[in-house]
Amino acid sequence: MYRSHNCGELRASHSNTEVTLSGWVQGVRDKGFMIYIDLRDRYGITQLYFDEERTPKAIMEKASKLGREFVIQVKGNVTERASKNPNIPTGDIEVVVSELTILNSSLVPPFTIEDKTDGGDDLRMKYRYIDIRRNPVKNSLIFRSKVTQAVRNYLSNDGFIEVETPYLIKSTPEGARDFVVPSRMNEGQFYALPQSPQTFKQLLMVGGMDKYFQIVKCFRDEDLRADRQPEFTQIDCEMAFVEQEDILNVFEGLTRHLLKEVNGVEIEKFPRMLYDDAMRLYGNDKPDIRFGMEFGELNAVTQHKDFGVFNNAELVVGIAVPGGNSYTRKEIDKLIDWVKRPQVGALGMIYSRCNDDGSFKSSVDKFYDQDDLAKWAEVTGAKPGDLVCVLSGETNKVRAQLSALRMELATRLGLRDPKVFAPLWVIDFPLLELDEETGHYHAMHHPFTSPKPGQLELLDTNPGDVKANAYDLVLNGNEIGGGSIRIHDKATQAIMLKHLGFSDEDARAQFGFLMDAFEYGAPPHGGLAFGLDRLVAILGGQETIRDFIAFPKNNSGRDVMIDAPAPIDDEQLKELSLKLNLKS
Ligand code: ASP
Repeated sequence: MYRSHNCGELRASHSNTEVTLSGWVQGVRDKGFMIYIDLRDRYGITQLYFDEERTPKAIMEKASKLGREFVIQVKGNVTERASKNPNIPTGDIEVVVSELTILNSSLVPPFTIEDKTDGGDDLRMKYRYIDIRRNPVKNSLIFRSKVTQAVRNYLSNDGFIEVETPYLIKSTPEGARDFVVPSRMNEGQFYALPQSPQTFKQLLMVGGMDKYFQIVKCFRDEDLRADRQPEFTQIDCEMAFVEQEDILNVFEGLTRHLLKEVNGVEIEKFPRMLYDDAMRLYGNDKPDIRFGMEFGELNAVTQHKDFGVFNNAELVVGIAVPGGNSYTRKEIDKLIDWVKRPQVGALGMIYSRCNDDGSFKSSVDKFYDQDDLAKWAEVTGAKPGDLVCVLSGETNKVRAQLSALRMELATRLGLRDPKVFAPLWVIDFPLLELDEETGHYHAMHHPFTSPKPGQLELLDTNPGDVKANAYDLVLNGNEIGGGSIRIHDKATQAIMLKHLGFSDEDARAQFGFLMDAFEYGAPPHGGLAFGLDRLVAILGGQETIRDFIAFPKNNSGRDVMIDAPAPIDDEQLKELSLKLNLKS
């Protein structure tokens, strides 16, 4: 038996019991005549004690030679400590060691196994198995397990069936590039790894599995923006014989359950916001509603004067920064520089100070009088002491810029408390989105999303105006889930694919299997998928998903621990009938 107890469980009530513990040496304090060792495992740390009087000499010697991260087993007696350590749960006791076995030695670890380690990101990733011994990573993985367990329990209790779908498939259109896998047995042919199980879960609905879920890996070959992973996990769900309302209720229930179970937070009803309103009020389809600072559109109260910048703008829009009138001129100039950074891309920023006496002082006093500025304050909801920040330009761009500024200022003002949870549904997304570069429309969600009833005809005349039965679940400014009611008849699916630019042949080649299935009694259905990594990180109060993934990839999509991706040898290439044609 390697252990009778773990390193986190012994208390004063265990005094005078003989125990066996196994674990890693966190640290050795060798005072010559006595030695203290902190023994660590997943459950905690227990102090081991050796002294000249009671410990056999050979053991004493062995103990003095132990290094950090050696794996040892000890037998000994639990003894109440003279000086207790209130900072750890086992701090009342120590184990007076009578036997010591070295189970394995360890090289000196490349970074300290402490909550705040001296190891940089790259080093931690290279030695991830050591990193996982650290509390922040270990606890994140345990937390993730708690969340997935709660998901499985909730959905299973609600009659959902967990079904696995294949990984070696054909392209799924979630808008990214596919990772492909060559097939040895089918020369010159490739599987694609699923960007999501979308088509399979729809086929499960045709198969009569009317409540499906799966905690599943998805693969998208995208340029990796910060905190994205090429492989990530979804809680993927689909239901048959449902309308949007049913879906929202079920998965609001799941999210409410998680918040309660995992965070002890109770939230009554999640607000719902139209996509158009989210864009108008927050410039963003995933608004953070933990704080106000809603947009105020100022065209009507700015375009009557001679100020060309505003008059020529499609949209003039502002926010009130609480307490912002206290910013110095220098601080405001810095803020202007911030919005002009290429990442934000504004051309400039106009501001109006709301003084405590009810007067205003703006950067455009030449053009606007006190009455005008009072209206700016009214529209943006600014109070005395606030600062109104105004951007102008092309609607979509200016909204994105002001949204970035809103989030940045809220972060600086401490309004984005990770312990506060503000979920909401954003509904009625547009069906299509214009790709500015190509001038073509593509599906905003995916090609299987159904248009709102009666809007199919609009596709010919005003494609950009067609609304979809599509919804996102947003939590603290992050999209944590998204889905739609699907098209479930072949004719509509064919029209949709045509509008997305698929020729009949292409549509047939790529989605023939789904269209065929629609001809064999496809029930009305819909669903959604949660991004599990992000959901767990937010529930865990963290900004980044990395620590919640056991073996994440770096920003270039590499696993630096196993050194993948890696070349394959000529023999393997030959077997796969592949020839490389490398550029360099
Ligand atoms: N497959 C979709 C996605 O990955 C989710 C859904 O529509 O259910 O975003």
